[in-house]
Amino acid sequence: DKQLSEKRIREVMHAAYEKYRNTTGGANASYIPYLADIDPKLYGIAICTADGQVYEVGDTKFEFGIESISKVFVLALAMRDRGAKAIEDSIGVNATGMPFNSVMAVELNPRRAVNPLVNAGAMATNSFIPAASSAEKWTKIDDIIAKFAGRRLSVIEQLYASETATNQHNRAIAWLLYSYGRFYGDISESVDLYTRACSYGSHTRDLAIMAGTLANNGVNPVTKEAVIDEALCPKILATMMTEGFYDSTGGWVYHTGLPGKSGVGGGIIAIVPGKLAIAAFSPPLDHAGNSVKALKTLEYIVEELRLNLLDAR
Ligand code: GLU
Repeated sequence: DKQLSEKRIREVMHAAYEKYRNTTGGANASYIPYLADIDPKLYGIAICTADGQVYEVGDTKFEFGIESISKVFVLALAMRDRGAKAIEDSIGVNATGMPFNSVMAVELNPRRAVNPLVNAGAMATNSFIPAASSAEKWTKIDDIIAKFAGRRLSVIEQLYASETATNQHNRAIAWLLYSYGRFYGDISESVDLYTRACSYGSHTRDLAIMAGTLANNGVNPVTKEAVIDEALCPKILATMMTEGFYDSTGGWVYHTGLPGKSGVGGGIIAIVPGKLAIAAFSPPLDHAGNSVKALKTLEYIVEELRLNLLDAR
């Protein structure tokens, strides 16, 4: 693929970095105190190809909150253990078209179906993972995250404490789902494990490799370890395409034609199946909770490398 030569990938990645490094706008997430204090100037880009090359520029080894990007990989675990059909039936796979922590998304849907990539669905998905105890479930999460990343990630304890002290809204959503019979495990345990998974510290490089595993049919392109069955990848990517950017997902797909996922820590991933994955990080967010700079960066790289899946030219 001439378009995707090593030289071209490097060129475009560095051009994006130079183009947007001084971009301002947006604001760090402030509803989680830890995130409000992260240096807004941090900026990193990493690209992981399906054959395991990793390209990076900027602050790619700075550890930041993975936040909602964890939802993708916890979904992968639930899907592995319960099957893709059970996720569709018990959680939901349609777009909510609403903000990440919307209560109305639950209230307005006649089946109380949500999507595994919004807070409500992600907590329900967490509750849906079979395990004999909370400790066993955490081990499962920790192990699969480590396989996706190719190294063991650790929770940023200060972030976890910060989120736990301020997650009343999420707890309310979990109770609401429970009242409708759409929650599948102990509420406080599942909300806690959800919160803990959101508090993982990840590098931009980690995210590129984790996403790269989804681009490479479930096999980590760097370690070569098979993490999930290849048949699950298109299902996971479909949820990203419908809900990866909450109520701004349509805009994202309109510009890129790719499955992607953002997190309020400032990270964004995008996946080009069979080819590569891109991750970018910059803390200031737009109104929908997506990193302003990471979004521009990914859109630029997708355009320049002609990665849009909906574009047959
Ligand atoms: N831990 C965050 C929350 O539950 C994640 C939100 C996000 O990254 O969009 O509010």
